Amino acid sequence: MNAAFPLTPGSAAQAFLARAHGLFIGGRWVAPLAGKRFDVFDPGTGQKIATAAAGESADIDAAVAAARAAFTGPWAKFTAAERGKVLWKIADLVEQHAQELTELEILDNGQPLAVAQYVVRHVVPDFFRYYAGWPTKIEGATIPTAPQGRRPGEVLSFTLREPIGVVGAITPWNAPLPMLMVKLAPALATGCTLVLKPAELTPLTALRMAELCAEAGAPEGVVNVVTGFGETAGAALSAHPGVDKIAFTGSTEVGRLIVKAAVGNLKKVSLELGGKSPVIVFADAVLEQVIPGAARACFFLQGQNCMAGTRLYVHEKIHDQVVNGVAAIARTMQLGHGLDPASQFGPLISAEQRERVRGYVEAGKREGGELVCGGGAPSRAGYFFEPTVFARMRADMTPVKSEIFGPVLCVQSFGDADLDRVAAEANSTIYGLSGSVWTRDIGLAMQMVRKIDSGQVSVNIHAALDPAMPFGGNKQSGWGREFGKEGLEPYLKTKGVSVAW
Ligand code: ADP
Repeated sequence: MNAAFPLTPGSAAQAFLARAHGLFIGGRWVAPLAGKRFDVFDPGTGQKIATAAAGESADIDAAVAAARAAFTGPWAKFTAAERGKVLWKIADLVEQHAQELTELEILDNGQPLAVAQYVVRHVVPDFFRYYAGWPTKIEGATIPTAPQGRRPGEVLSFTLREPIGVVGAITPWNAPLPMLMVKLAPALATGCTLVLKPAELTPLTALRMAELCAEAGAPEGVVNVVTGFGETAGAALSAHPGVDKIAFTGSTEVGRLIVKAAVGNLKKVSLELGGKSPVIVFADAVLEQVIPGAARACFFLQGQNCMAGTRLYVHEKIHDQVVNGVAAIARTMQLGHGLDPASQFGPLISAEQRERVRGYVEAGKREGGELVCGGGAPSRAGYFFEPTVFARMRADMTPVKSEIFGPVLCVQSFGDADLDRVAAEANSTIYGLSGSVWTRDIGLAMQMVRKIDSGQVSVNIHAALDPAMPFGGNKQSGWGREFGKEGLEPYLKTKGVSVAW
């Protein structure tokens, strides 16, 4: 750990890091059966901060068995109101342990303090409380039927909404706690049980959350956490015949592998995958909102964010002002360790990720993009990369087409008559996750909202997430929706019941 940001000796986060982390299966910490472990690094310093258990196929078997026993056993006896109480209590416990979770999330992932604090104090508790209200409102329907010539009143038909069963949740490293939260809350609300496999780069907060779920009253086996690698633990979970559903967030490439692995027992799959979201700025937009908005859209979480607005289309009349304004923000963003309150921009997750990003920047330069700012890695410990702006980009350039998952903004301009061309370009990637339109003209905004093929389009704001608002991807950005009432659907199955007398 960077000597400049030691955790207070005796702090909860320090004590947690010092533990010999195991797997959380059936309400207990257990050692991985094959005895393997892996190192966990602080991306802000590049130093090792902990080791975690490398769970494999046999550990997944044990976790799935525990989840199945809980699903058919104690968890099935909880009333809807009791499940709601558990969810509410998780929110309370997250607030009570906010300092510890904030520090662990920063050390694991690198995000700046202000982001982690907001996530832990607001985003996560609000999300659990939103879903705490749902168990008591999951209802089927009464349906007017007349099967086999029966007359009205002779058959009562209705639907039961039942939990889908044992869920395998596989999550990425870019926002470890929120990614876990979006699987955990609806799964618990519907009465499912889970085996969580957090990303190997960021296993820490998932382990702590497992304990908090138990403390909140989730019976043993309801929430199991198996840390480990994607190719071993993740693959075993996706292929497991005892898992009823996989909820995955990560790359489109791994999403495809998961779909293939799920074929064996035809388990249900929901996927939240990559993105390459457009930010479209018309000439009448309010520049004081657009400039910080476009910078945030791309650089939030260092661009390691599936919703990142990495393709900026600006009307030619205001092109230079917007580019200069965004570049000025990029140049002055304070890079630093997430635990330093002055930091506005953290490191990338790993040295490997930094090299990937660098590769895309080099491709952009080679292909003729104008590098306005950034483009390099500062010489300091940790996996930092400067916020980068490219102007004069074209649709066929590598950084415009690819999901970089790093802080690289590609700017293109358009003129008055180009509404359909801009929409076509906005839609020209394989992705369709998010996007935003910036204008004062509500009619124009609504036309663009209709034309953009993505699961989320915002006007004069980018990535407007809220627990109540469905979120998910079109095209190769995913299957299904998370958040909101729709976010319950992937965890429920419908049983049609007809009673004749
Ligand atoms: P990212 O691009 O964000 O690193 P990945 O898609 O590589 O995302 O990883 C997201 C999650 O998927 C991680 O928990 C990772 O361990 C897991 N994973 C990677 N490969 C596989 C696989 N073959 N099967 C199942 N899970 C995997």
